[in-house]
Amino acid sequence: MFHEEKEGIIIANIAELFLGEVKKYEPSYPNEKPDALVIKNGKIEAIGETGRILADYNRTDYEYINCNNEQSVCPGFVDSHTHLVFAGNRSHELEMKIQGISYSEIAAKGGGINYTVRETRNALKKELKEAALKVLNKMLLHGTTTIEAKSGYGLNHESELKILEVINELNEEHPIEIVPTFLGCHIKPEDFMGNTYEYIETMMYLLPEIKRRNLAEYVDIWTDLGAFTVEESEFFLKEAIKQGFKIRVHADEMDNVGAGIMAANLGAVSADHLLKSEAITAEAMAEKEVVANLLPGTPFVLMSKKYANYRMFRDANCTVALSTDFNPNCYILNMQTILTLGTYMMKMTPKEALKAGTFGGAKALNREKRIGSLDLGMQADVLILDVPSIDDLVYQFGTNNVSTVIKEGKILVKDREIVTETK
Ligand SMILES: [Zn+2]
Repeated sequence: MFHEEKEGIIIANIAELFLGEVKKYEPSYPNEKPDALVIKNGKIEAIGETGRILADYNRTDYEYINCNNEQSVCPGFVDSHTHLVFAGNRSHELEMKIQGISYSEIAAKGGGINYTVRETRNALKKELKEAALKVLNKMLLHGTTTIEAKSGYGLNHESELKILEVINELNEEHPIEIVPTFLGCHIKPEDFMGNTYEYIETMMYLLPEIKRRNLAEYVDIWTDLGAFTVEESEFFLKEAIKQGFKIRVHADEMDNVGAGIMAANLGAVSADHLLKSEAITAEAMAEKEVVANLLPGTPFVLMSKKYANYRMFRDANCTVALSTDFNPNCYILNMQTILTLGTYMMKMTPKEALKAGTFGGAKALNREKRIGSLDLGMQADVLILDVPSIDDLVYQFGTNNVSTVIKEGKILVKDREIVTETK
């Protein structure tokens, strides 16, 4: 690629430049409206008006991208909640859902999460990896540059380790940065004969090996009606914390069981879903700086009218993230769709939604000092959008508005095509 011989990249005449949370960049004069970026050594080198940038940097030394005041620029999307690795397609359940057959009835007919678990256990590592690679490439084409990925469809030692190994190998091989999470306590699988505490203990036995082999940064659990109780979850998470893991929680999706408050008490990095949470949860999470990770794809695919109460979390001063919850029951990998759902279903402004899908996601992964905003010195994970404004990114939905994806200063997608698949 010829741009690699250049000093870096200049992006100029940007229609709308969304920087996110910036502390280091200072306008050179009051009311400066920056519309250009310089990328060098994988980082944001300069931000300013096109005229000033082109006076300071010689465009012939750089790969020069002219947005012609038609294209906008924002940080790469950070999708901080995905179940990337699984086998088995569940599109056939859609007709049952439309007929009004409930989630538990679908499960009783052999569908649902236990179907995914059976298929995932039977799949070879190679098959899981190939399927996930296809998803990662689609995510990249839609502007996602960092994701979190959970295990949780193995639910026994062998298969949970298999999934975590796949996640870690993909992180080595694919340009998207992947943050691994151990979700051995997703649900108690149908074939486990003992009681819930006995199941949790079998998953606890895996923690030292996961730590020793550095297979996961986070430990997660589903704390909810029909999943694990708060007491059971605390029993597991306290052990994970003791062994040096950071934690995150699937919280209060089906019912307000106090999972968000538990996440705050235990110092979780994020609590996710929070569909049924009330103000007291938002306040507890804000006080302990737990990110409220909202996943509007889930109520959408469940055909529910009940979305998380974004404004309650915002007004409590919680950092809010938006993520896809990509999984076989919620096959949405495009963060742009999620921003649109955030706006239309949760009354987020387009800029609030975009900030949640970039800075919020980065904070939900403890990486907000490196990614999620376009401040000076930050990692250059940058998107060029084929729309004249951030409002249009959300408003012109149902199509891919991302034309160029830059990760760590390297162009990975150009004119909507992947130009390099290596790190
Ligand atoms: Zn999930």
